[in-house]
Amino acid sequence: MDLTLRNGLIITATDTFRADIGIEGDRIVEIAANLPPGRTDFDLGGKWIVPGFIDVHTHFDAYLAPYAMHSPDDFESGTRQAACGGVTSVVDYAFQSTGDTLHDAVSQWDDKARERCYIDYGFHTVVVDPRADVLAEMADMVQDGYPSFKVFMMRGFGDLNDRALYEILKHSKNAGGIVTVHAENGDIVQARSEELFKAGRRAPHEVPYAMPPEAEGEATQRIITLAGLADNAPVYIVHLSSISALEAVRIGRQSGQQVYAETRPTYLLLDDNYYAKPAAEAVRYMASPPFRSRDHVEALWNGLRIGDLQTVASDHTAWNFHGQKELGINDFTRMPPGIPAVETMGPLLFTFGVQTGRITINKWVEVLATNPAKLFGLHPRKGTIAVGADADLVVYDPKRSVTLSKDVTHSAVDYEPYDGFELTGYPILTFSRGTLVMKNGELMVQPGHGQLLRRNRFTSL
Ligand code: MN
Ligand code: MN
Repeated sequence: MDLTLRNGLIITATDTFRADIGIEGDRIVEIAANLPPGRTDFDLGGKWIVPGFIDVHTHFDAYLAPYAMHSPDDFESGTRQAACGGVTSVVDYAFQSTGDTLHDAVSQWDDKARERCYIDYGFHTVVVDPRADVLAEMADMVQDGYPSFKVFMMRGFGDLNDRALYEILKHSKNAGGIVTVHAENGDIVQARSEELFKAGRRAPHEVPYAMPPEAEGEATQRIITLAGLADNAPVYIVHLSSISALEAVRIGRQSGQQVYAETRPTYLLLDDNYYAKPAAEAVRYMASPPFRSRDHVEALWNGLRIGDLQTVASDHTAWNFHGQKELGINDFTRMPPGIPAVETMGPLLFTFGVQTGRITINKWVEVLATNPAKLFGLHPRKGTIAVGADADLVVYDPKRSVTLSKDVTHSAVDYEPYDGFELTGYPILTFSRGTLVMKNGELMVQPGHGQLLRRNRFTSL
């Protein structure tokens, strides 16, 4: 055996049990009691082993044209944080430029990522310019290992109308794909932003008026209706933040539609009180959608617990405070939205979800690893601990105390949004395909270990 992990407590989405794990090359080849030590052996002394988390919503090396801003976090620093937080695969969003094909988008994004990643990475393609040839190309994308697409109902990403959304959903369904959706009513958000701006209400705390829960609920309801009309096309709502959107998902699922939804750690942990802080603080927490009031936060935990929400993903989008976020202190229209969380997501959910009793340890693994792997064509190769699966494994010390700060986390940006949060339980070893990539916050491999993921066509959960 190349590698053995012995005396660990294995935790999957369904089971918790003591066993040793044997690994040859990239794969798990044996799970049994009392395996003899391999050529490399880790005696874990009862620590936990979980499948590496799969973050299906990141924006590394992002560029936001309206602000002419580049994210300080690229695929090197982004996947460094991922490995340190127990994430062994990311699926980032490759944006199509008008006039380009979807294959062009993947190739442009792979140019940013190739030889830069510590862990495996894949891409969803954002459909911005749904010309007839692009709609036809969607079947080739699925064939080539890119079975997930993205559409924005916000303005500024192709300004897709209902006809365009319907066509994209229909072509995705026929191709064997799934469409992920940023669901907010773009016209309302635009109208209300202009209203605020003209009235001189430009401080960051005004933003929630422009992006109300109703705009999210309406758009979520509408995309689910369109997906139903498009022959029950699989649809996945990203970063769901509000009660009305959650209700729309619940009703869609109850009526038999292939509707799935993700939330972010921020919407589970932080609320709109952050916008009442001084503007120089509030800008650090500006997200799209914005943080909601406490009743929404509690509803999301419940949705996660009972399965109305199937995944948690970071939507990691990182901007410096100095020179980027701070431009919004007196004018929210100059402030790039986004928060880094790929590294802290797993440990935050463990402390504030599992240890508080809101979700079980197995649900924690399910929403961070198994469900994202299943929905995005990576299961059973990834997302679980099984013979034949990739040895993407994280050793977790459930007793380790960590107080989050800029010095502890590994982002390239100049602040840590969860500064001062006290956590119990933290990843200490991360293995990617049988290779130790992270030990106690130190990277053990060079960038380039991570490989481009080709994923399978959509199958329902
Ligand atoms: Mn979004
Ligand atoms: Mn996003």
